[in-house]
Amino acid sequence: MSEAIINKIKQLKEKHNAVILAHNYVAPELQDIADVLGDSLQLSIEASKLGAPVIVFCGVSFMAETAKILSPESKVLLPVRSAGCPMADMATAEAVAEFRRTHPEHVLVAYVNSTAAVKAEVDICCTSANAEKIVASIPADKKIMFLPDRNLGRNVAKTLNREMDFWPGYCPIHNAITVQDVEAIKNENPGMEFLVHPECTPEVVALADKAMSTGGMLKYIRESDKNGFIVGTECGIMHRLQIENPTKTIIPFKPTPTCVDMKKIGLADVLACLESLEDNAQSVATPFEVVLDEELMDKARKPIERMLAFK
Ligand code: SF4
Repeated sequence: MSEAIINKIKQLKEKHNAVILAHNYVAPELQDIADVLGDSLQLSIEASKLGAPVIVFCGVSFMAETAKILSPESKVLLPVRSAGCPMADMATAEAVAEFRRTHPEHVLVAYVNSTAAVKAEVDICCTSANAEKIVASIPADKKIMFLPDRNLGRNVAKTLNREMDFWPGYCPIHNAITVQDVEAIKNENPGMEFLVHPECTPEVVALADKAMSTGGMLKYIRESDKNGFIVGTECGIMHRLQIENPTKTIIPFKPTPTCVDMKKIGLADVLACLESLEDNAQSVATPFEVVLDEELMDKARKPIERMLAFK
């Protein structure tokens, strides 16, 4: 059954010159058919370089929005439109604009895990990989509001020994990793390196050997001469880690961190969204298409470009 679906996906992909992007957290079968696999920003940057007329984004809505902002000429399809991010939704554009109005002295730094409408309200974006570098670039006498992830913000502030204000948002998946569970899994697996994502609380990060982005974890484990790792992030990353490191022992955190939104898309959804192109003229939006206002995209692109200038 899945083989038949995969073959149809391949045919339609070729017919419509589409590329499939998949985030490291989505279901393994989607990772296996993806043209590009990576973290959200990396995927959007790669997609903008490919210049494909159709981009199928297997991830959640803020990621597909970022792909659209960086590839405005492409048709960007999100196979399940309800795949969202609870953390991104914790900062609304209205609330961020109100903060800006009442706190004009603050520099607003937004984690890329935020909606396009929120990005349009801020000064600069960051990823979990470059957040320290971005914050460190802001003059010390400037006040900073870091949003929407208070955990990433607190971890950056701690490393840089910098006072900042934090939006009260968090990733429910990483925030649920507790100190007690970390101590338990470390005790059960002595000698293994414990890696966490900086969306975890500072208390959990303090117990880790390393805190890094998903891209950082993939690179670190690939290049490490160590053999045993406990991975404190969303379980979808295990698929790629195990393929890339067949001789290493890599175990997921327990209880297994699983993002329901990241698992909403299946192969049948990818096929359905490619089939929707068959019924629609290129100029008509399919129900899967990410459609953003031009002016909003122009505003949201600026903080992303400011961040990219740091590379
Ligand atoms: S893992 Fe967390 S940050 Fe990522 S999409 Fe799910 S809720 Fe959002």
